[in-house]
Amino acid sequence: MTQKDLWISALRRIHPTIQKNSFITWFNNTAILERKGDIVVIGVPSAYVDIWIRDKYKLKIIQALQELDSGISGIEFEVHQRLGVKENNEGVDTKSLVAVESEKKVRKVRNVNEVNVMKGKDKGHVSSQMLNDRYNLHNFIIGKDNRLPHAACQAVADAPGGVYNPLYIYGGVGLGKTHLIQAVGNEILKNYPEKIVKYITAERFVTEVVDAIGKRYMKSFKAQYRNVDVFLVDDIQFFARKDSSQQELFHTFNELHDNNKQIVLTSDRSPSDLDGLDVRLKSRFGMGMVVELLAPDFETRMAILRQKSQEFEVLLDPEITDFISNNVIGSVRELEGVLRQVVAESQLSDRVPTIKSVAEIVRRLNKAQKIIGYDLVEGDGACAKNGQDVMKIVSEYYKVSVGDLTGKDRHKEYMVPRQLAMYLIKNELDESYEKIGGEFGGRNHTTVMHACSRTAKRLRKDIRLIRDANTIKREMGL
Ligand code: ADP
Ligand code: MG
Repeated sequence: MTQKDLWISALRRIHPTIQKNSFITWFNNTAILERKGDIVVIGVPSAYVDIWIRDKYKLKIIQALQELDSGISGIEFEVHQRLGVKENNEGVDTKSLVAVESEKKVRKVRNVNEVNVMKGKDKGHVSSQMLNDRYNLHNFIIGKDNRLPHAACQAVADAPGGVYNPLYIYGGVGLGKTHLIQAVGNEILKNYPEKIVKYITAERFVTEVVDAIGKRYMKSFKAQYRNVDVFLVDDIQFFARKDSSQQELFHTFNELHDNNKQIVLTSDRSPSDLDGLDVRLKSRFGMGMVVELLAPDFETRMAILRQKSQEFEVLLDPEITDFISNNVIGSVRELEGVLRQVVAESQLSDRVPTIKSVAEIVRRLNKAQKIIGYDLVEGDGACAKNGQDVMKIVSEYYKVSVGDLTGKDRHKEYMVPRQLAMYLIKNELDESYEKIGGEFGGRNHTTVMHACSRTAKRLRKDIRLIRDANTIKREMGL
């Protein structure tokens, strides 16, 4: 096996275990450069990639390589900018690699569904809605408010058609009903690939019934639903006052249930609270297992944020997750929405999220929201006007005192902020070196010059510092 083949095989193993976009970004133009005994040297195109790969994927890379060649015991990284050059074909093109892989995957899945869809088409209508494989039981965070629904789904997925039939899940908007019901479908298909799983929203079911009546293919419509092994119906509150659809559902339900086929239903309310539904249906819905999803409590919200930020591959300060968990208390969907915005904004502008920026996002997404833990002044266009303002912002950002900034302590945790503050005052406010020296405890102007040039140099390659500076600049109102 050539080094390139080895690397491609390793990447094929790594690819399914991380998010597609991250995979494309971080592994693009990487290569195995050489083998030094049992050590493999991996080339990466930039220092930035180097830091990320080392930090997040080193273990995965070693594991993948060892699975392919047990003689490998470790890896090293080297940055070679030539790998990033377009004409250089040394590195792997992750985009085409992913394209090839997903082509394979799609084909495999389609075969199963094709049968299903074609059956329907022959009779003049399309059947199953697709399951989204993003939803599974492993990435559903369990807290004390959703432990039971999750466990019930797991039980159903392990043994469909067993005692929990039907499984009825209810709860408010955005609490994970669709996630769970689809996860059951995905899990069953994984455990029992031969089973026919049908997922449909109530809304879609109603449309199909109306269509079938209009076009007179009711008989084949009925037949279509009777041969499934697992029947998943999402948002059944939508059946309210749709009488012929209810009737159709009733017959389908009975037949499937009599044949021990698994049925899972979701709704925004409990069976007995379903208005406009036939009492016979209500009583059938309640005859298996009924579980309620509740809004996540603080700890669960924290756990969800932690997991989702891992999925998005960002590192959030605990202070920030804490702030979001305190302020976004409605549903998981809202929580996800805020997090998505926070991540997008920080990635687009290469800034670290701050309480202030997150508070602004929360406010933007929900105008009525009271913000806890931050005073958001409307139209807050605060900007730093002088050296004192900058020092205050820098000291708050780095959690050191202004005295530490102007003081003499040469430890890194004070030096870096001190020099950055001088640099920003010089570059953004254009104060003289002498004046800055005076503000920083009567330092000589050459000391300030030195601090500025050192910071400028570090800002060319220190990603962390670049981000810090960007964030502070925003706080300065720039
Ligand atoms: P519903 O159908 O109840 O309105 P969804 O299932 O669409 O809610 O959930 C909204 C979003 O929140 C989805 O992206 C889902 O993946 C996510 N979500 C909900 N609950 C959880 C949980 N416990 N763990 C992880 N993600 C969750
Ligand atoms: Mg839903």
